[in-house]
Amino acid sequence: MSTYFKEIFDGLKTFIGGLKLTMHHFRNRKDLVCTLQYPHEKWPVPERHIGFDLEDYNVIRSRLNVDLDDCIGCLSCQRACPVDCIKIETFKVPKDSDFDAGVTSNGTQKKMYVARFSIDMTECMFCNLCTYPCPEDCIYMAGGPNSHRHEVEYEFSKRTREELIFNFAERTEEEILEAGGEKYLAKKKGLPLPEPKAQNPEKKETK
Ligand code: SF4
Ligand code: SF4
Repeated sequence: MSTYFKEIFDGLKTFIGGLKLTMHHFRNRKDLVCTLQYPHEKWPVPERHIGFDLEDYNVIRSRLNVDLDDCIGCLSCQRACPVDCIKIETFKVPKDSDFDAGVTSNGTQKKMYVARFSIDMTECMFCNLCTYPCPEDCIYMAGGPNSHRHEVEYEFSKRTREELIFNFAERTEEEILEAGGEKYLAKKKGLPLPEPKAQNPEKKETK
């Protein structure tokens, strides 16, 4: 019998305790807001201090970033990726073209034109393996020792899956054609390859 009344008492006590807590939050709802209206509100990022300096890191696992201006289109990163989430398409800038593919920060003359460079971050497993073979050090994880090149972003969340496919080379058809990519475009569209251009007789003579 005493157990019976004890259980009723415990039940009432718990109920009143819960009600008191609810009323407490209700009365102080402005001061003690506990629901953050994400994504319209976000917690401030705390000061980073993890016990050692950023330059002492050698690796950080975060979002990949590519400095396309330095990419020579060698495909080493694509080959190194164990899950094939890097997709690169290149073509060689024709010798008879006036187009200058540019020079990298390391002073390498670029010969390939990178028409497509995308990384599907929904498949990436952040293993970092793609960054090691890059001869131009232009694919890297943002933040950490690379903070001076690209800060870590607050978050990488996106509303759709497609937004997590990062396109680092957003080329227009005009840009590709300007770089001499007629064959590349024809292959992509499944069209017959364009006729090779007649050789410039003046150029032939100078050979
Ligand atoms: S971090 Fe790993 S999985 Fe992600 S793109 Fe690079 S090699 Fe592929
Ligand atoms: S390894 Fe570096 S240079 Fe080569 S394709 Fe990848 S990002 Fe470009």
